[in-house]
Amino acid sequence: MHFRTELDSSWAEGLDYFHMKWIYRPQNLLLPDGNRFYPDFYLPEQKAFIFTMSGDTAVSYRDLLGYQAQTGLMFVVSEGYGSFYVLGHREWDSFICRCHVCGKFFFTSGRPVTCPLCSASGPDLTDFFLSGEGVSGSGM
Ligand SMILES: [Zn+2]
Repeated sequence: MHFRTELDSSWAEGLDYFHMKWIYRPQNLLLPDGNRFYPDFYLPEQKAFIFTMSGDTAVSYRDLLGYQAQTGLMFVVSEGYGSFYVLGHREWDSFICRCHVCGKFFFTSGRPVTCPLCSASGPDLTDFFLSGEGVSGSGM
């Protein structure tokens, strides 16, 4: 598969590592203000998009934040190898965690109480966090 950038290629490897299903360069999104947003990855199981910084978008983060709040979709932004944040949060408040009911990994901000994949819920839902501050050395 051909990736637009090395960062995109490294994300594909990372997503495979966490057994997250992904679609590369999905259809663009038409935002309520008329702008089009071109995400790099769509994670259908999590209803999340990953956007690796490339500077070629006219879309403002504020527009995306509104769209995220309105639709319940999640936007994950990555500005470099292994680091990421959920739009509206900082790297240290953004995580990949693993549901201890279904065992699947997903992106989140803060500690989730409901798994987006299996809908299990509870205060001790997750047993693993990986911070968006960076995963250097993990092979990602
Ligand atoms: Zn689960």
